[in-house]
Amino acid sequence: MKLVLRDYSEDELISVSQDYDPKELDLEFVDLKYTDKLRLEGQVLKSSESLHFWGELNAPVERICGRCVIPVKDKIDQPFDLYYEIKGLEEIETLDDLRETLIVDHPVQYVCRQSCKGLCPQCGANLNEKACRCKIQDEISGPLSKLGEFFKKKNSNNL
Ligand SMILES: [Zn+2]
Ligand SMILES: [Zn+2]
Repeated sequence: MKLVLRDYSEDELISVSQDYDPKELDLEFVDLKYTDKLRLEGQVLKSSESLHFWGELNAPVERICGRCVIPVKDKIDQPFDLYYEIKGLEEIETLDDLRETLIVDHPVQYVCRQSCKGLCPQCGANLNEKACRCKIQDEISGPLSKLGEFFKKKNSNNL
């Protein structure tokens, strides 16, 4: 959002709002899709030397769980709080700062819930829904392979 400084009187609180097309802002991630426009609601307060611009960015989104790859409906409620030095300037372009606020807060890995078991790396089954056969085989072969290692160690100790 571009704030033209002459549009604002000093020490007068002004409410502003704007809708953005998230695609134009290049905000999507592999695990985050915007399902509608991004709405900005904010306040502007200009003083003789600075401009305070704060508010919230809201949008409905769909996030992909990093473990089970299932899309989950969610929403962005991102507060922002920006200060600008305005001496000698006619306008302030706030878009890059707003983008940054959204990008910095993007989680490294989104999970649908902390207890999500994810997908089986072998057969791709969703382990939240059922235990797959691979899991059962692991449980059977697990103790046996440990026993094998035990004997290997024993042998090497005897040498
Ligand atoms: Zn999940
Ligand atoms: Zn499996």
